[in-house]
Amino acid sequence: MTAPTDIAGAAAALRGGATEARAGGTDVMARAAHRADAGPFTDLGRVAGLRGVTWRADGSALVGATTTVAEVAADARLRAAYPALTATAAALATPQIRATATVGGNLLQRNRCWYFRNPAFRCLQDGGDTCPAHAGDHRYGTVVDPGPCVAPHPSSLAAALLAYDARVAVEGAGPRPVAALYDAADPTRDHVLEPGALLVAVELPVPAAGEAAAYRRATARSRAEWPLVEAVARVVFDGARVASAAVAVGGVARTPLRLPEVEEALTGGPLTAEAVAAAVAGLPDRCAPLPRTGYKAVLLPATVQDVLERLIPA
Ligand SMILES: Cc1cc2nc3c(=O)[nH]c(=O)nc-3n(C[C@H](O)[C@H](O)[C@H](O)COP(=O)(O)OP(=O)(O)OC[C@H]3O[C@@H](n4cnc5c(N)ncnc54)[C@H](O)[C@@H]3O)c2cc1C
Repeated sequence: MTAPTDIAGAAAALRGGATEARAGGTDVMARAAHRADAGPFTDLGRVAGLRGVTWRADGSALVGATTTVAEVAADARLRAAYPALTATAAALATPQIRATATVGGNLLQRNRCWYFRNPAFRCLQDGGDTCPAHAGDHRYGTVVDPGPCVAPHPSSLAAALLAYDARVAVEGAGPRPVAALYDAADPTRDHVLEPGALLVAVELPVPAAGEAAAYRRATARSRAEWPLVEAVARVVFDGARVASAAVAVGGVARTPLRLPEVEEALTGGPLTAEAVAAAVAGLPDRCAPLPRTGYKAVLLPATVQDVLERLIPA
């Protein structure tokens, strides 16, 4: 394992995919313990300039890739500007994992399908030609646009960052929208960052005046679990009227998703319980459940409704 101390050294060690980045290690070390396809590693833990939050003069924030999830959750200035991001960070995994897991690793972690993680199986994500979960036990699988691979995307921060229209900075390349990290049409990968590329930071835009945001997750148990469905909502108010809305969900599809139909339905009018109920009413039609994921077609509108109702002005 190499342990570079600067960004240039880390980029050089990763270049071409010769080694795999290890940030907090909570995903890669679990994979390495069970499968042969992880490593050798370049450890990012000592790389100067990758960790911490920088504020630009215009009020936008840069969150370094090795900033831990716990640091994001505890950052008061981030919480004031991007409350749904810090709420998402505070809700995911466990205190121990949040203390180690990083923003970059969270966005680029591999899926948690038990067939993918089990060396006794081959699947589309590791060179196989079928998805064993399709015919097998896919109770935590996708419900929106289920394609050849039915593992939902595991990153909670990705959904929050989608709702905030965040971008990622990649060493040696221009910034790109968070959504460009993912491709629902590719069943062989959980993200489409080029092999060997180094994610340097996440860029959050200046919060709008009159912005409010919230995060909710539906879980099968209260802690140490990925959500069954999670939702992030960000609404910009112009007086009592919704000037714009951003709604993103996780746990339901191969990638974190924005819900443009809900956003459009809410924009222009007041945010009321009736408006929210009407906006989410079509979401079950967006779902195409697998035999064991029909419950997510119920949880999806309920979770989106719940998160939006938290933003209704008193
Ligand atoms: C019980 C449990 C519950 C969990 N619940 C949730 C949950 O609710 N929501 C959620 O989102 N996650 C959840 N997780 C997963 C956890 O959040 C991830 O394992 C963690 O965020 C990964 O971050 P890391 O820094 O440890 O990544 P690592 O394991 O270090 O890396 C993960 C991947 O990212 C790549 N990588 C990391 N940093 C960079 C970089 N800067 N540039 C390029 N590539 C990079 C690595 O090469 C690797 O492929 C849970 C985990 C457990 C065990």
